[in-house]
Amino acid sequence: MLNKWTFRGLKLAKEISTWSKDPSTKVGSVILDQNHRVISVGFNGYPKGCNDDGMENREEKYKKVLHSEINAILFAKQDLKNCTIYVYPMPPCCRCAGAIIQSGISSIITLEPSPEQYERWGDDFDIAYKMYQERNVHFMQYSISEFDEECLKDKNNGN
Ligand SMILES: [Zn+2]
Repeated sequence: MLNKWTFRGLKLAKEISTWSKDPSTKVGSVILDQNHRVISVGFNGYPKGCNDDGMENREEKYKKVLHSEINAILFAKQDLKNCTIYVYPMPPCCRCAGAIIQSGISSIITLEPSPEQYERWGDDFDIAYKMYQERNVHFMQYSISEFDEECLKDKNNGN
């Protein structure tokens, strides 16, 4: 079972992910401080003002796009030391993991990658995981079924 703030963080990250214009991969990140205040949010997309008509072209997209985690870190207006980042629907890649660590964020909460996601980004997730261990960054991932179950309960409670 997910605790209240884990669920809230991931649910908000899920909502933010829908703001991405990327037709294939929509990722959302939310940064909360230790008092659970929302410090920043981000979704994957092109830098501000860059033409995003070419979102279908994978090759170009990969080179131009900023990941949700980086956007959330860049838009934050304060020190991120000891904050928590919630990332939906899969763990950060190793580039983002490096930026997260460098920003001072101390905790990462996300969902387990699907087999398909793991096939594409498994190497990245593995490298990132090693970095978290080296730097004592708290990393926690929940299964999508666990999360969906909480969403259903939440909905039945009228939220
Ligand atoms: Zn990334």
